[in-house]
Amino acid sequence: MIAGIETGGTKVICAVAETAAPGSIIEQIRIPTTSPAETLGAVRSFLNRHASSGALDAVGLAAFGPVNVDSSSPSYGWITSTPKPGWRNTDVPRALGLGDTVPLQVVTDVTGAAVGEQRAGAGAGFRNVAYVTVGTGIGAGFAADGSPFLKRSHPEMGHQLLRRYPGDDFPGICPFHGDCAEGLASGPAVRARWGRPGELLDAAATAEAVPVLAYYLAQLLAAVTYTVAPDRIILGGGVLQLPGLLSAARSQLAVLVGGALDGHPLTRPDSGYVCSPDLGERAGVHGALYLAHDLVGSRAPLTAV
Ligand code: ZN
Repeated sequence: MIAGIETGGTKVICAVAETAAPGSIIEQIRIPTTSPAETLGAVRSFLNRHASSGALDAVGLAAFGPVNVDSSSPSYGWITSTPKPGWRNTDVPRALGLGDTVPLQVVTDVTGAAVGEQRAGAGAGFRNVAYVTVGTGIGAGFAADGSPFLKRSHPEMGHQLLRRYPGDDFPGICPFHGDCAEGLASGPAVRARWGRPGELLDAAATAEAVPVLAYYLAQLLAAVTYTVAPDRIILGGGVLQLPGLLSAARSQLAVLVGGALDGHPLTRPDSGYVCSPDLGERAGVHGALYLAHDLVGSRAPLTAV
């Protein structure tokens, strides 16, 4: 038996599967994210119940950050400098009672989503996949051949500084920079500017918001493309529920990149290069299960080399 856990800012999703079948979830639960003791205690109870016939073979953990993902560090798996009340310097593996005997892979939530989508979702069949989420925060994760691309650290893509939409003087909400990507285009930024979450905006506000947000998201997508050159970018998160935003971001990306990447699929907005997730909010926990599976034994490569 293996377990996959995704800890999010508002909820934790925890699932178990047979070790040989990480894609087939046997049982899954959702737990509200409250205090570390209460939340992780509930996860621990779930794990213990499923480990009653023997220890878990491995656990995958996709955690909200900042989280230490360096497996050589003594604080591997710790939530580090988060502003989330009570969670700073939380030793998650210890709180889950995993000890040193259960193999554990820790990645960020968005890296877990990238792995999940690549192994079982919208990224299937593509060797290099980026997952960009635009929600409470903005983050990016990368998977190469089904594994995390970065092993010791994770990017903070949300703080990328952007060129301003013409005439936009919204100061932004990032406590560090004001108008970085997260300050301008995250869910809280949408609420601060238009008074409600993106999916609840009226038609007039939507018409105003879409081109502005698309302009900012396209810059992020261009930065990912220029830097990592993935085969596919999966664009998820609550802000993408704004009607028309995905399509507008794709079109804006093609305009923004112009001739710099001649023939690249992004120059055709309908190519699917930027696409929606297939697994929705389950992407992270699926990724965590696949990572747990990989710890137990070698797996067949995704693509023959
Ligand atoms: Zn910032």
